[in-house]
Amino acid sequence: MTDVLVGAKWVVSGIQDRHTPVVIEDGAVLARDGVIAAVGSFAELERLAPQATVKRHPNHVMLPGFVNSHHHVGLTPLQLGSPDHALELWFASRLPARRIDLYLDTLYSAFEMIASGVTTVQHIHGWMAGGFDAIHGAATKVLEAYRAIGMRASYCYAVREQNRLVYEADEEFCARLPAPWNERLAAHLKAQQVPFADYMKLFDVLTAENAGATLTRIQLAPANLHWCTDDGLVALHEKSRAAKVPMHMHLLETAYQKEYARRRTGKTAVRHLHDLGVLGPHMTLGHGVWLTEEDIDIVADTGTCICHNCSSNFRLRSGLAPLNVWEKKGITIGMGLDEAGINEDRDMLQELKLALRVHRTPGMDDEVPTAPQIVRMATEGGAKTTAFGDSIGRLEQGRLFDAVLIDWNAAVYPFQDPDIPMLDALVQRAKSQHVAAVYVGGDIVYADGRFTRINRDEVLAEVADILAKPRTPEEVARRELGLAVFPHVKQFYDGYFDAAAHTPFYRTSTRS
Ligand SMILES: [Zn+2]
Repeated sequence: MTDVLVGAKWVVSGIQDRHTPVVIEDGAVLARDGVIAAVGSFAELERLAPQATVKRHPNHVMLPGFVNSHHHVGLTPLQLGSPDHALELWFASRLPARRIDLYLDTLYSAFEMIASGVTTVQHIHGWMAGGFDAIHGAATKVLEAYRAIGMRASYCYAVREQNRLVYEADEEFCARLPAPWNERLAAHLKAQQVPFADYMKLFDVLTAENAGATLTRIQLAPANLHWCTDDGLVALHEKSRAAKVPMHMHLLETAYQKEYARRRTGKTAVRHLHDLGVLGPHMTLGHGVWLTEEDIDIVADTGTCICHNCSSNFRLRSGLAPLNVWEKKGITIGMGLDEAGINEDRDMLQELKLALRVHRTPGMDDEVPTAPQIVRMATEGGAKTTAFGDSIGRLEQGRLFDAVLIDWNAAVYPFQDPDIPMLDALVQRAKSQHVAAVYVGGDIVYADGRFTRINRDEVLAEVADILAKPRTPEEVARRELGLAVFPHVKQFYDGYFDAAAHTPFYRTSTRS
């Protein structure tokens, strides 16, 4: 048994309520084989475990490691040539993206996440060609990368059964394209087809391969309503119940998706999922920007979780998610960086600030986000949306010892008035350069700007070398296809959604 005693100026063990962090001054965590054995004052725990290996962070705040509850890729779409279009166009604009080894790609974003205090990620994989073997091989590389760098990953492969490019059947959309793009796009989309049974098999195989793994767990992900059939959704729900794993599902990310749900079901997407019986605490809705007030009540009543992807919602013109209403209803909320945050990276400390400030709706009420509330979303709330559940997210006995140490003195230098509560000042002033150390399962995976298991410079150099080569013939052909198809995708959505017919209930301005 290995006992580790880690002390800090302040230990924030969790969040009691949206105004109150649980803070221990001169605190410490005692961990045994990566699991927290005790949390308390340093002096008390030192007496309890005199044999423990001691590490002290005298100027630092220790927080539970952050959970990035919605993540997809390493190199960002912008890096790979796709600007911030509206979501529906952005899918089309990503067709030309370069291919990159997924082990390296996964490390690329893992560096950014860990360096900003993220210890667990919900990795939602998908959108691959090549059938079961290719997807299984790719998933294996993603999972290997997280294990190699020492980060926790809740992995899912997004199930897409239909409507792969726009909100209608692939065949119907392709049939309207001029030659040769009709056949080329049809072939491209067909290559992404996966028999439903293979999605289930992939989950089973990956679950068996990761049985007993401490860093990686497998869960399920219906990709979105338009991508799934009702039969598929029900089957995924049954699978998740039988395997006791959560599901993460993009939903109502855009107004166009709200309209899609109305056309397909005659009701809202949330009402439809509720009628199918697939909502509940095991289900997390990614984005949820366009939930109606009634939808929010259904989400709250069923205990369904929501993942707030604040940066992504801005970048892809999705809109402003009604976070303050979700919070008021007591919904469990996680925080996701999605493809990339507002600064074009995966910086959770930046995302905390954004989410804190975006929802400061006009008025003098108490319903705008608080720093403890935002930290809870990025820790315990997010944890509940992953396959790790309540084994992470707080620093308390029995949970895994995943923590971030932030250098308080450096973050607030040269002065911080103590009238501002510590956590409020920390959330608003600490930046990723103030992250001094990151622990996952009691092991230091990052300290003083260096990763302890993987050489970041070597990985980045390898990525640069690979992408310095010219596009392969397959990449050239896919780029041509993407550029040719893009205007047709735009045309598909002409008049699809009438913004004037939708009255906002979450206001930041008024016309009169
Ligand atoms: Zn997403």
